Amino acid sequence: MTPYQGVTLLKSHSCGELRKEQVGDEVTLAGWVDRRRDHGGLIFIDLRDREGIVQVAFNPETSKACHRVADRMRGEYVIRVSGEVSLRPPGTENSKLPTGDVEIIARDAEILNPSKTPPFYINEDIEIEENLRLRYRYLDLRRPQMKENIILRHQIVKFIRDFLDAGGFIEIETPILIKSTPEGARDYLVPSRLHPGKFYALPQSPQQLKQLLMVAGMEKYYQIARCFRDEDTRADRQPEFTQLDLEMSFVEEEDILCLMEKLFSAMVAVIKPEMRINKPFPRLSYAEVMDRYGTDKPDLRFALELKDLSDIVAQSNFSIFTSTIASGGKVKGICVPGSAAYTRRQLDELNQLAQGLGVGGLVTISLGDTAGGSLDNLNMEMVRSAVAKFLTLEEVKEMAERLGARMGDLLLVIAGEPKIVNSALGELRREIGYRLKLAEPGALAFAYIKNFPLFRKDEATGQWASEHHPFTRPWDEDIPLIDTSPEKMRSRHYDMVCNGYEIGGGSLRIHTAELQKKVFRLLGYRDEEIEERFGHMLEAFEYGAPPHGGIALGIDRIVMLLAGMENIREVIAFPKTQSAVDLTFDAPATVTEEQLAELHIRLREE
Ligand code: ASP
Repeated sequence: MTPYQGVTLLKSHSCGELRKEQVGDEVTLAGWVDRRRDHGGLIFIDLRDREGIVQVAFNPETSKACHRVADRMRGEYVIRVSGEVSLRPPGTENSKLPTGDVEIIARDAEILNPSKTPPFYINEDIEIEENLRLRYRYLDLRRPQMKENIILRHQIVKFIRDFLDAGGFIEIETPILIKSTPEGARDYLVPSRLHPGKFYALPQSPQQLKQLLMVAGMEKYYQIARCFRDEDTRADRQPEFTQLDLEMSFVEEEDILCLMEKLFSAMVAVIKPEMRINKPFPRLSYAEVMDRYGTDKPDLRFALELKDLSDIVAQSNFSIFTSTIASGGKVKGICVPGSAAYTRRQLDELNQLAQGLGVGGLVTISLGDTAGGSLDNLNMEMVRSAVAKFLTLEEVKEMAERLGARMGDLLLVIAGEPKIVNSALGELRREIGYRLKLAEPGALAFAYIKNFPLFRKDEATGQWASEHHPFTRPWDEDIPLIDTSPEKMRSRHYDMVCNGYEIGGGSLRIHTAELQKKVFRLLGYRDEEIEERFGHMLEAFEYGAPPHGGIALGIDRIVMLLAGMENIREVIAFPKTQSAVDLTFDAPATVTEEQLAELHIRLREE
C-alpha cells in the first residue's frame, strides 16, 4: 500500500485495506454500496471502493440515526461511514474477502449521492450485452474484472516506462496533428480552419517522427503512443490504439530483439508471476512459419505442425492428390489427436471451415477407434475416410507417421496451391488447438518472425507494395536487386508474436536518401510526389542520419494477453464498437453548419 491510498480529507482508509491489525481503530470510509442486507434490525452494507470491499454493520442499538440513514441506502449509492473496526463474531467470517475477518460498526453515516438502479448488476459476474456495457462504460468499469484489467494496464505501462528509463531511453511526445505516414491503412483526416482545403492526418504511427528523432541525435527514444488507422475493426483491432513505440541508433536486430525479450521476461516475472514464458524467444523465418504453421503469427503454445505429404501420395491412386502435385501444388496435413471418433457433423464443420478458406475440399482420415496405440496394428478396415479406397495401407501409415499420429487420431489433409493449403491448414490448426484446449493455461509463447520479403506485388494492380512500410531496410547484399528482381529482396523486418497474435513489429531502417528514394520510386511514386510527401525525410537523411532501427508493440494486445481476455475492448477504458462507434458519447456525431463553414467543408449528398 502506498501512503497515499485512502488518506484523503473525506476518508481515512480504503475499504480493501482493513485487516485484523486495525481492530479497535476508528476509521472513516467512503465508496459505493455493493450490496445491502437487512436482517430485521441489523443492516449490513458491503462497501466498495477501488481497493476492495468491507462489511459495515448498522445496529440501531449503536446509533439509531445512523441505522435510519442506512435504511435509505441502496445499490450504488455513494456513502460515507465512520465507525470502529471490529472482529466479526466467530463463525461469520468471510474467507472469500481479504477483509473478511473484520467489519465496521457504524456510528455515523451519510449518503453523499444516491444512484438510479443500474442497468446491469455491478457485483455479479454475469454475461452482459456488450453494447449496454459500452453505453454505460463508467458503470461497467466498476465491475471487478474490468477494474482489474485497467489496473493491470497501468502496471504494464508503468513497468515499461521504468524499465526503459533505467535502460537510458527517454520518452518523447510526437504530434497527433501531422501528415499522412504510410503504414498501409487509411488515414483519419482533420480539416484545417486556417488553411482552406488542407488536412492534417492523424498518425498511423509515429514512424517518421521517431526516425527524425534519431537524426536529431536522441539515440534511444520511446513513447506510449496513440495511433489511428481507419480500418475495419476486429476483436484485436480498434480505430485508435496504443503502442509502445521505440527507436534506437547504432543497433543491429538482435539489440532490439534481446531488449524486448528482457523487457517481457522481467515484466511477466513481476506483474504476472503465475504465467509461464518461453525463453529465449525463438527466432523463426517467415518461410519456416508459413510452412510449419500456415501463418505468420503462429500460436506456439502447442505443436500440431503442418507436414508436407506430397512425396508420399505423389504416386497414389487418388487423382486429386496426383494432379495437384503434378501441377506444382502440395498435399499437406495435420494430425488431430484423439479425434478419430469425430461425428459426421463435426467433420462437416471442419470441411466447411476449410472450404470457406478457399480450398476445394478437406480429406479426413480416421485411424481406428482405440486411442493411443501404436500404428503397427493398423489395417485398412480400421481406416475411415471417403478416399480410403484410393489409398494403400502403406500410404496411410506413412502419412500418419510423418504427422506423428497414433491410433485414435484424425488426419486432416488438403491438396492445392501451397499458399492456400498453408493458410487453410493454419486456420484449422488454430481451430483445433482452441477446440481441444491444447494450449497450456497461463503459458505465453513468444517468438520473433524474421526474413520477410521486402516487397509484394499487388495482384490486382501489378504494383509493388511494401510488405511492411517503405522505411524498412533490405539486407545489404540484396540492395542491387532493386533494379532487377525486387521480389527477391529480403527485409530486415521482424514481427513479435505471442499466443497466435501479432503483438509487434519493427525493423532496421533505411538511412540514406538515395536508397529511400529508390524504394519510393519502385512503389510507384513520381519524383514530385516523393518530394511533396517525403521530402522532409530525404532531406533529413542528408544531414548525418545514423543507422537506426526500432519496434512498435501493441499495448492493448499485450494487456489483453496478460489479462487472459479475448478482446482488446476489455482492456481499454473507453473503446469503440466493431463499427467504430463510441457508445458512451455517441461519437462520431453530426456538427453544426457553422462548424462546417469554418472548416470550409460542404457535405456531399451520397
Ligand atoms: N511503425 C511500425 C508500426 O507501427 C512499427 C515500426 O516499424 O517500428 O507498425
